[in-house]
Amino acid sequence: MSKVYLDNASTTGLHPLVIQEMTQVLSNDYGNPSSTHSFGRNAKSILELARKSIAKHFNVSAQEIIFTSCGTEANNWILRSAVVDLKVKRIITSKIEHHAVLETVLALQKEYGIQVDFVTVKANGAIDLTNLVELLSQDTKTLVSLMHVNNEIGTVLDLERVGIICKEHQVLFHSDTVQSVGKIGIDLQSVHADFIVASAHKFHGPKGVGFAFVRKNSGLQPLFHGGEQEKGLRAGTEALHQIAGMAKALSISYHNLEQDKKHISGLRSYLLSQLDQEFSGYQINGNKEGFYTMLNIQFPFSDDKTPMILFHLDMKGIAVSRGSACQSGSIKPSHVLQEMLSEADLKKPSLRISFSQFNTKNDIDFLITALKTI
Ligand code: PLP
Repeated sequence: MSKVYLDNASTTGLHPLVIQEMTQVLSNDYGNPSSTHSFGRNAKSILELARKSIAKHFNVSAQEIIFTSCGTEANNWILRSAVVDLKVKRIITSKIEHHAVLETVLALQKEYGIQVDFVTVKANGAIDLTNLVELLSQDTKTLVSLMHVNNEIGTVLDLERVGIICKEHQVLFHSDTVQSVGKIGIDLQSVHADFIVASAHKFHGPKGVGFAFVRKNSGLQPLFHGGEQEKGLRAGTEALHQIAGMAKALSISYHNLEQDKKHISGLRSYLLSQLDQEFSGYQINGNKEGFYTMLNIQFPFSDDKTPMILFHLDMKGIAVSRGSACQSGSIKPSHVLQEMLSEADLKKPSLRISFSQFNTKNDIDFLITALKTI
């Protein structure tokens, strides 16, 4: 049976050159980067070259890139240390953040009694920046945490604008950029973010590795205690093969950015044209101008199709999702769609279809044909 993978916002396949790079490091470069002998020095040099290469894509210095085990860890670390060490008393975020941010913020509220405010989300999934400015009129030590590209509906935050708003109000700005890193250029000299995070498996790198950008002199303290790795900010022997794979994947992504973006945007437009043709009355959750890598579609099927639609597509070898992968086993409606849709629309089947450069028009045709049998 041929298989079609259209769930690239959950995770992506490894790029063959990344596998090559990782295999090379796994086979030959097994030294511990903290050892002082030649094996260690060799590993250290691979580690620092990876850091330098990643930093260059964001126009920042290598020391501002800290490797972590994933995007979730990076988000947890930054938010927790902002409260515990930087004495942030208030976090402004949105109800459509990934759970790696949302659950962390709620846990911090419970543990430390910080004030949590949610900025208004418009019906099309955009963050209401006028409301953000209103919320910032309060004089409390604050951190704003707003994601760049929403992982379920693909709405895009104007990072530059939010950075300026945060700077003007002298508050910290953290952005979960897990869905955008490797898919759009981010120049951290023009974007005034204090912290951003990334996860390699979203851009054809390995799972279980990510990084945080932490602006110089932030005052952040480590989440884990132990060795002096990562300048004392993240204890634990660095997973060199993962980190080298991540750096390679990011370089490939940014090197091919324009051509991949053109290809993927073409697939997204093609899907929309096919939906126009075959499923009149469908709706886009979010907006048509959302990020080029995904579409969240509400299908004009009866409510009783909702529980079986994913199963039906899976039986035909097609992988898409209802929302975030971490929640897809849940019968609860997506917390993101819940913020935007009416009760009636929430009951209808919605699917997130997310692309990579490895997809083709045939994949879209296959999906459309399968959807027509529902
Ligand atoms: N933030 C966003 C927006 C995501 O899409 C994801 C992954 O689903 C994460 C954070 C978590 O990243 P990781 O899987 O590396 O923990």
